[in-house]
Amino acid sequence: MVALMSSGEYRDSLRQYHPVVYLDGRLVESVADEAAFKPGLNAVGVTYDFALRPELSPLMTAVQHSSGKTVNRFLHINASAGDLLNKLEAVRRVCQETGCAMRYLTQDALNAIYQVAARIDDARGSTEHRAKFLSYLHDVQNRDLTLGVAMTDAKGDRSKRPHEQGNRDSYVHVAERKAAGIVISGTKAIVTGAPYVHELLVMPCRNMGREDADFALCCAVPIDAPGLTIVARPAGRPGEKSALFSNKFGQSTGVAIFDKVFVPWDRVFFAGDWEHSGFLTYHYATHHRHSCIGARAGFGDLLIGAGALMCEANGFNPETETHLREQMVELIKITEGFFACGVAASVYGAADPHSGSFMPDPVFSNIGKLLLATQIYDMHRIAHYVSGGLVVALPGPDEDHNPATAARLSEVLRANPDIPYDKRIQTSRFLEDLTASYQGGWYSVISLHGGGSPAAMKQEIYRNYPIGSKVQLVEKLLDQGIVHDPRRAITRNQQPGKCCARGCSAEGTAVMVPMERHSPAEEV
Ligand SMILES: Cc1cc2nc3c(=O)[nH]c(=O)nc-3n(C[C@H](O)[C@H](O)[C@H](O)COP(=O)(O)OP(=O)(O)OC[C@H]3O[C@@H](n4cnc5c(N)ncnc54)[C@H](O)[C@@H]3O)c2cc1C
Repeated sequence: MVALMSSGEYRDSLRQYHPVVYLDGRLVESVADEAAFKPGLNAVGVTYDFALRPELSPLMTAVQHSSGKTVNRFLHINASAGDLLNKLEAVRRVCQETGCAMRYLTQDALNAIYQVAARIDDARGSTEHRAKFLSYLHDVQNRDLTLGVAMTDAKGDRSKRPHEQGNRDSYVHVAERKAAGIVISGTKAIVTGAPYVHELLVMPCRNMGREDADFALCCAVPIDAPGLTIVARPAGRPGEKSALFSNKFGQSTGVAIFDKVFVPWDRVFFAGDWEHSGFLTYHYATHHRHSCIGARAGFGDLLIGAGALMCEANGFNPETETHLREQMVELIKITEGFFACGVAASVYGAADPHSGSFMPDPVFSNIGKLLLATQIYDMHRIAHYVSGGLVVALPGPDEDHNPATAARLSEVLRANPDIPYDKRIQTSRFLEDLTASYQGGWYSVISLHGGGSPAAMKQEIYRNYPIGSKVQLVEKLLDQGIVHDPRRAITRNQQPGKCCARGCSAEGTAVMVPMERHSPAEEV
């Protein structure tokens, strides 16, 4: 077992780093003590404290097969469908508490990098990349670190490829190769939690062509590496009195500017291997979209609870007031609907042929993320529908103590006689915070674009879905299987990864081995 840190130890561990972080136009002296980052530190801290709680540790920790050590779930390489399900549940659980706890990005990236390292080795008949990655992984696990994901480049003109950009720094690239390592420059535009992570995992954000080889790189960089500057936003709504949730929990995002940052070879997972770049991007995206499903389900749980409380505080029981019940059922359907895609993606997950680690099913992962990306706006609408206008019209918290107005407001703004006024306004402010404030907008935009924009998911769904098999199915039924042209595009995509030469499963094979029934004596 590695020495797992508590949230306090995590915060203290950041004091060993001296990153260059700007916030609202000023240099941050100490990230660990910066009030504007406190909600972010608190949220990441939950992932540490949960792993130490005996009742949660089966979910929040896992045994790393390559070392035999128990590590934080968010640093673990998935080895089974059960691992994927546990990760999904773990993400949901931490997001019920924090809204967004960021650290699962670390796990998504580690899993994808392990896969690409093994793929490069297999292509070259070597073992070097696996060994280098595992050595890095074990070090990260032993030190119980949090790693930020620096994937989304600034990208410049979206219609042009990296090498066509007017400004080369629109994408992070290899600026120089040295005997001891590489020197990288360029900009990653959006990095969640950037100021308060220990290291950044730098990865390409797209498929690269041969001309883009300099931009195809994957490496690990300590957050205080010379030449790295983070320009960050506050995490959540620190210090705002009415922000009942997001003055405690939230995430900062940062622009990461690399200016001739030196990376030694033992931290370079690939550099210049353009033909492996798309594999890493798409596999990371699949892991991460699977995690996004758990994250937004945790957020959905908060809206379901707060929506029901608001109905009650207003004097209604949604069970008997049918139009409110319909809205609540819609909210439940949305949340559990996309979560079910996460469960399906876990159950239909498969071992990656290179590394043997487990990948969530890409079609279900992408459908789940696509659903939540668009339905987040419905979730907010429903929260507003059942709550009423008070969510944005309630006088601010200072009025709660104004001798001229407080007593009168608490009389006239009370609704259900059984629910105290202060509980009603607390619920209302909680809902404002999550759905109608700056933070509410943040949850919308991270749901829509975080992990990739909807168009990227649609592309992945179409690319991975076995439409060809479905065409053949119908042709067989119609007795029209007459066009045997292998160049025919519509039938090309036939269950990739299933029933395939890689030996995943044959038609009719059971998908999962049924669990053995317990004897009646065990069923207490
Ligand atoms: C809160 C938040 C946190 C995030 N955290 C991280 C993080 O930790 N790490 C990280 O790496 N990234 C992170 N992201 C970035 C996220 O992955 C991107 O926002 C997403 O990939 C979209 O990229 P973009 O924001 O640059 O939008 P754009 O690329 O500008 O997209 C805008 C629109 O243009 C379309 N578009 C873009 N390019 C093309 C094209 N070539 N052809 C056709 N249409 C195109 C898109 O589909 C979209 O509809 C985060 C994002 C948010 C909002």
